[in-house]
Amino acid sequence: MAFKHENVADLYDIGVVLGSGHFGQVRQVTERSTGAQWAGKFIKTRKSAGSRLGVERSAVEREVELLQALTHPSIMALKDVFECRAEMVLIVELISGGELFDFIAAKDNVTESEAIAFLKQILEGVGFMHSKHIAHFDLKPENIMLSDKDVANPTIKLIDFGLAHQFKQGEEYKSMCGTPQYIPPEVINYSPLSTATDMWSIGVITYILLSGLSPFQDNTDEETLKNIIAMKFEFPEHVFSMTSESAKDFIKKLLVMDPIERMTAEECLIHQWIKPMTRKQMANRNRSSINMKNFKKFNAKRKWKMSFNMVWMCNRFMRLQLLSSAANAELRDCESDSEDTESKPASLMRRRLSSSS
Ligand code: ATP
Repeated sequence: MAFKHENVADLYDIGVVLGSGHFGQVRQVTERSTGAQWAGKFIKTRKSAGSRLGVERSAVEREVELLQALTHPSIMALKDVFECRAEMVLIVELISGGELFDFIAAKDNVTESEAIAFLKQILEGVGFMHSKHIAHFDLKPENIMLSDKDVANPTIKLIDFGLAHQFKQGEEYKSMCGTPQYIPPEVINYSPLSTATDMWSIGVITYILLSGLSPFQDNTDEETLKNIIAMKFEFPEHVFSMTSESAKDFIKKLLVMDPIERMTAEECLIHQWIKPMTRKQMANRNRSSINMKNFKKFNAKRKWKMSFNMVWMCNRFMRLQLLSSAANAELRDCESDSEDTESKPASLMRRRLSSSS
């Protein structure tokens, strides 16, 4: 896909802010020529190699390359890319159904069968990605959205491929990125990663979805990471009393220390919890349900933390803007690229192990 150098505003009407990331905003945009609705991901890029604010241009190019390789109903589609000196804009499919977890939290009761319908779509998307040797490396509730929540069977859309990586044949890839409660031991141990890394995150997401508890989360990130390394998790009866044994078996086969021993997405799709073989297995799924009381609590806390982080980031960003010589520049002015003079710029906090979400 050729990057366009025209001004995005000439071709698209820039609308409301849909969400924010560490390096910019996602806005609703309308294609002037057709009236079609899209989302525009505006990403601040670094102006020079020594610059600390913004994303490396090559990182955005990589995200674009991966998205282009991933045409699948469960994965956000990419339409176009624009670039100027200090900003890149990805025009992507508009996803208007919000986050899956918010959709579920708004319900009174959700059976395992209903939860599985979503999980299956996640597994199909992830399985497709893995068949292309691409790992997402940041699977978490914030990155699992619904294309439209007002339909009978909402479609899952996986977003944010900012940390994703395509493995070359025989390549050894290590990274310390991710979000503490969702990362597997191999990330913490700085061991080689693989597509199995995503499967651990799916195990954590499923655990939370069914119980409203995060399997390894503790008071601090450090304690959370210790719990992961020690594989310290269980299924407390008072929380999992509504959960089927097959669901627990499914999770146990994902939260496995050795990445090679973890179920792959393909294996998950034929696990008897996802694809029941007998009537009895099917009946168990319909009888078991999500622990809604706990799940709603988990989700409310998660949202509160997200907005707290966002306010913190905005305040910090405003302060940086004021400190910089470009104090009068517009926040999204293509030419702006203010530098941080303090020790821990928000730009460097991006999903490091020390930053929780
Ligand atoms: P982060 O710094 O957290 O990794 P990011 O800069 O990579 O974020 P995204 O996670 O891709 O950005 O998007 C930020 C937010 O914008 C999302 O959490 C979501 O709420 C919203 N968003 C992203 N893509 C879309 C889309 N295609 N349609 C609607 N909203 C979207």
